[in-house]
Amino acid sequence: MQSFNPPLRTLMGPGPSDVHPRVLAAMARPTIGHLDPAFVGMMDEVKALLQYVFQTRNTLTMPVSAPGSAGMETCFVNLTEPGDKVVVCVNGVFGGRMKENVLRVGGIPVVVENAWGEPVDPNRLEDTLKSHADAKIVAFVHAETSTGARSDAKTLVEIAHRHDCLAIVDAVTSLGGIPVKVDEWGIDAIYSGSQKCLSCAPGLSPVSFNERAIDKIKRRSSPVPSWFLDLTLVMGYWGGSGKRTYHHTAPVNALYGLHEALIMLKEEGLENAWTRHQQNYLALRAGVESLGLEFFVREESRLPQLNTITVPSDVDEARVRQLLLADYNLEIGAGLGSLAGRIFRVGLMGQTSNMKNVLLFVGAFRESIMRSTLAPARNGTTVAKPRA
Ligand SMILES: *Cc1c(COP(=O)(O)O)cnc(C)c1O
Repeated sequence: MQSFNPPLRTLMGPGPSDVHPRVLAAMARPTIGHLDPAFVGMMDEVKALLQYVFQTRNTLTMPVSAPGSAGMETCFVNLTEPGDKVVVCVNGVFGGRMKENVLRVGGIPVVVENAWGEPVDPNRLEDTLKSHADAKIVAFVHAETSTGARSDAKTLVEIAHRHDCLAIVDAVTSLGGIPVKVDEWGIDAIYSGSQKCLSCAPGLSPVSFNERAIDKIKRRSSPVPSWFLDLTLVMGYWGGSGKRTYHHTAPVNALYGLHEALIMLKEEGLENAWTRHQQNYLALRAGVESLGLEFFVREESRLPQLNTITVPSDVDEARVRQLLLADYNLEIGAGLGSLAGRIFRVGLMGQTSNMKNVLLFVGAFRESIMRSTLAPARNGTTVAKPRA
């Protein structure tokens, strides 16, 4: 065995996205102690930068030391008590995982089902809350990475509050790519991930909780069922200013990376990053439509950072992805669950969202689709056309 040297890929899948050399360089700097005063100073900056990207003043804003799934779990283990009714809006894979989280902590999930590829229907949420007046929490995914659909977070949070519920929002794919306004929209608990539009290495999950959420945690009658994710303990390390106590060894170098990625986002400006994601989506759309292909999600609900393209019936979907990876070092994603084989998922997240990648993708995709088209054979079965 010898040192591992990964191939140089262009990451246009559903995450991770391309990590900028500045971020990789930051992660290669010397490891110091997680209680070192120099490190603690950097932690404070990470918190301030996260408040900026989340658009919040919440003091409980920090990165959980594990990937986005742990951010999801942090929200549910802290906010849900056994017997709590939680309305979960499901319009894809990640909404389904939220429901699973509610079950694991002894909550009672009430599911608002929506078709995959559609946004969450606010009217359906409202009707569900009317017939479940004892519900305590509403949870939904802002940007459903499994389908490419964007839900109206502001409206869904408003409805939750009108029915005296806290709102838990999954912003793993939305943060940094489209507007996410925690304070303006009144989001009570939110989690994201480092490896999507923040373009950092995978493994960290920024979260933010407002006073209403903290209040519910403080009023718990049972202890938080996870020791590692118990916010009342984690706060001793990440919390306020002054003394930090040991909770777990922070992933020091990973946090250097997040710090650098957030500095880069601040330098660009959040609004400029949103505009860049939108413009590169428009360029991608022009390219995809010029190939005669169709998007899976209706125009008004599309995510600029996660584009789903319907697989034509005569195209071998897995082979297209194989060719892109083998011949162009370009990674895109496959459909999940019921969408397996039916859609391509093309990410334009964070650093990946640039014009050079759009042009690379459109050319490589055209070529790979042509080489993966199935031609009807005489006996009625299909065979792949010979490679050009
Ligand atoms: C990627 C993703 C997650 C999970 O994040 P991991 O970092 O893979 O654990 C959760 N929700 C959504 C919407 C995602 O796209």
